[in-house]
Amino acid sequence: MATQTLPETMEVSESKPATKYVYFFGGGKADGNGKMKDELGGKGAGLAEMTNAGLPVPPGFTIQTDACREYMRTGGVSHEVDQQMEDALARLEKLQGQKLGKGDNPLLVSVRSGAKFSMPGMMDTILNLGLNDQSVEALARLSNNPRFANDSYRRLIQMFGNVVLDIEKSAFDEVFDAKKKQKKARLDTDLDAKALKEVIEEYKKVVKKHTRRDFPQDPHEQLIMARDAVFRSWNNDRAKHYRRINNISDDLGTAVNVQAMVFGNLGETSGTGVGFTRNPATGAKEFYGEFLMNAQGEDVVAGIRTPVHILELQKIMPDVYNQLREITTRLEKHYRDMQDFEFTIQDRKLYMLQTRNGKRTGRAAVRIAIQMVEEGLITKEEAIFRVEPNQLYDFLVPRLDEKKSKIEVLATGLPASPGAAVGQIVFTADEAVAKANGGKNPVILVRGETTPEDIHGMEVAKGILTSRGGMTSHAAVVTRGMGKCCVAGAGDIVVDEKKREMRVKGQTFKEGDWISLDGTTGRVIKGKLGTLDASPDDPELQKLMGWSEPFRTMKVRANADIPRDAIQARTFGAEGIGLCRTEHMFFGEKKIPHMRAMILADNEKDRRAALKKLLPMQRDDFAGVFKAMDGLPVTIRTLDPPLHEFLPRREELTVDLALLPSYDSKQKKGLVAKYKDYGVKAVGDLKRVLSGLLARVEQLHEFNPMLGLRGCRLGITYPEITEMQARAIFEAAVDCTKKGIKVHPEVMIPLVATLKEMTNQAAIVRRVAEEVLKEKGTRIDYLVGTMIELPRAALVADEIAKEAEFFSFGTNDLTQTTFGFSRDDVAKILTTYLADGILKQDPFAVLDREGVGQLVKMATERGRKTRGKLKVGICGEHGGEPSSVEFCYQTGLDYVSCSPFRVLTARLAAAQAAASEKLKVEGGRTK
Ligand code: ADP
Ligand code: MG
Ligand code: MG
Repeated sequence: MATQTLPETMEVSESKPATKYVYFFGGGKADGNGKMKDELGGKGAGLAEMTNAGLPVPPGFTIQTDACREYMRTGGVSHEVDQQMEDALARLEKLQGQKLGKGDNPLLVSVRSGAKFSMPGMMDTILNLGLNDQSVEALARLSNNPRFANDSYRRLIQMFGNVVLDIEKSAFDEVFDAKKKQKKARLDTDLDAKALKEVIEEYKKVVKKHTRRDFPQDPHEQLIMARDAVFRSWNNDRAKHYRRINNISDDLGTAVNVQAMVFGNLGETSGTGVGFTRNPATGAKEFYGEFLMNAQGEDVVAGIRTPVHILELQKIMPDVYNQLREITTRLEKHYRDMQDFEFTIQDRKLYMLQTRNGKRTGRAAVRIAIQMVEEGLITKEEAIFRVEPNQLYDFLVPRLDEKKSKIEVLATGLPASPGAAVGQIVFTADEAVAKANGGKNPVILVRGETTPEDIHGMEVAKGILTSRGGMTSHAAVVTRGMGKCCVAGAGDIVVDEKKREMRVKGQTFKEGDWISLDGTTGRVIKGKLGTLDASPDDPELQKLMGWSEPFRTMKVRANADIPRDAIQARTFGAEGIGLCRTEHMFFGEKKIPHMRAMILADNEKDRRAALKKLLPMQRDDFAGVFKAMDGLPVTIRTLDPPLHEFLPRREELTVDLALLPSYDSKQKKGLVAKYKDYGVKAVGDLKRVLSGLLARVEQLHEFNPMLGLRGCRLGITYPEITEMQARAIFEAAVDCTKKGIKVHPEVMIPLVATLKEMTNQAAIVRRVAEEVLKEKGTRIDYLVGTMIELPRAALVADEIAKEAEFFSFGTNDLTQTTFGFSRDDVAKILTTYLADGILKQDPFAVLDREGVGQLVKMATERGRKTRGKLKVGICGEHGGEPSSVEFCYQTGLDYVSCSPFRVLTARLAAAQAAASEKLKVEGGRTK
């Protein structure tokens, strides 16, 4: 196929086989094809494929990603790249019968970036390249439309100035807006040719001022500069950031597409638009999209004018509409996936400019996958991979009810935290608290950006809306943690905190006005919509899960400490509890005084007395969880955190004690109430109790509590704690069994580093278990195992497995101790590390396969060497993260355990991991 192109190049590099850097498309045929995303990028591959399919695509050529990688290595491109580009340009000029930026009928091109995966962080497209002071006149004469010509030229200077010459957009916007004001123009299209000419002159001054040189008039120079800017954009901050959060390799590089221009801004018989072959929000099988007449490029999405629904096109130009439907239907059939397409109409003639697999919400992903199976387009096995496991979260949060009313979208921001929220606007955190009135009134907190001082308002609000900030802004991160709906960075909204109003689309909203947020799509909607509850039992979801579940071999459990969470997890399909943290049970109002008495005791006798009071309460806790998980295994971890977490802070205590003599009686009474759990009954007790308390707090104080007296070290120091917990577990188990509940207790010893630690604690648990069972005259099968969360434990896993009947990887601590990162302090370091690419991902979110993962692998292998059928699982945060779940599957773990809301995600991720091995599919997911 190379024979028809680039004969000169072949001659130049006789010695080694020439790399084909440039791929031509046009005249019904393309050098490349749709499979070549690695070389041509998604956009280039799509253009080639559409050309080969005979669709109306403006001709052009793609400079492949290899040239970008070369540019990154050497800071330039080789002679071959330049040469091949010149040849392709010559071929394009010949095909079009035009010359780039020259003559009576000048060729103009767009320069478009396009990597293997679509990346919104990369360079903006440059349109109308080739225009200069001469060719703009030619274009005006040729089109008989000077307004159009000047409009195209001013756009070029603006885009080129911004993306190639790095001049702030605002520098151009100021000029443009001033001109609109001066001419009393409301819309961009109200400016006439003369006004635009004046804009051009001022734009040129802006360029000169910022770069100290004139806007380049030579079309070839424009082209080379634009090409190199695309290459450089691969490494701009936005692009790097996007790659990081989407787990895309930094080494891929981008392709550059140079394509003959077609014009949607030629008048009222021209236009441009975007669309989807199915509704990307709901998945409904309906043609979905928007367009604008007499517009170019990004006008549709830029929000300058309000775009029109694509169905209107049917009325305006039925032929074009039908052709577009026919083409996009064909594209969907061809790619066997929902398509997201871009088109331009030039004087009633349709051109396709892009097609790709469209992004969609989780609900849409499920619906489209099922419908495509029903339509015979894909198989059930393929359908499993059409949904990103993380997207299933959409089914677990409420959503807006959009059926009943016609909705007005005010703005679209980032879908920072999924779900829906409907409420009355408030502008400060304090107002939120006041107006919410203890949760009686739904409020939405609207801010420019949130800060840590807003937390109390965020807690009571139904949803959060910010006009600035990205997916990792304070608002986004905090709301995701709270499981609360958030739309962040809705840039079209002006939040005036002083005037307490928000302005958008020419409308003003005051405190108390109703708005609705869709955190799944980022839409801000006017008025009070209804909401629909979460629907984990959605029939379509169940259907898809029904297809994927047979492939799953690894179990999915939940981390749950209380019956309510356990019950919820079960409805999401949890097959047991992988981590029940007993310490959370001690914080209850009734328990904490006894817990504190236990910690304050300086002798075993007092400690046992306090533990005795805790015993029945713990037993009830465990019974509740066993009941909820009837028939399924429950892993209970013995006490893990350092004890001082249950006591007042040292600094606070010191202050209270020091100020005590100067307090009046009211203040002293306050202290009595504050310290009543520590045995203060009257003012007279204060001095004695507080000094005693301080002394004990001093004793327990640790410089690094995370590496201090915690985990099994506690149970070894105070064996009576482990004894009490074991007794509570087995008494509860026996009681439940008597009621016909099937219990499978698994007692887990935390933070073990040596065999002897394990032996020590396992001996206590087994002894107490046997005592209880003997007392009650029954038998219950149970396991005693350990958490692997220290590198040493992984190293001696074969030893530890002599005592431990199961392993569960506590990958939060294991990540902490393997990296030597403190989880509480790592945030500062991570920001730099991620920005500089020292770490690709946060290892606390995504399991570090190369390091921590190797310990997981090693410990599993060594443990099973000792105990062939050793049950192995994971219970860190990673247990619900798809890539980590995949790793666990590949490592041969028996189960993953995660928070209840991630159970569905983990189930699908585990099924996909197994299915992709069995079916030998790779990366079948929609990206
Ligand atoms: P993105 O990757 O941001 O979608 P594109 O390269 O697709 O950027 O360009 C954005 C828009 O620019 C297209 O949707 C189209 O409207 C316009 N465009 C790009 N190339 C051309 C062209 N050759 N002729 C007319 N319009 C074009
Ligand atoms: Mg595009
Ligand atoms: Mg731990």
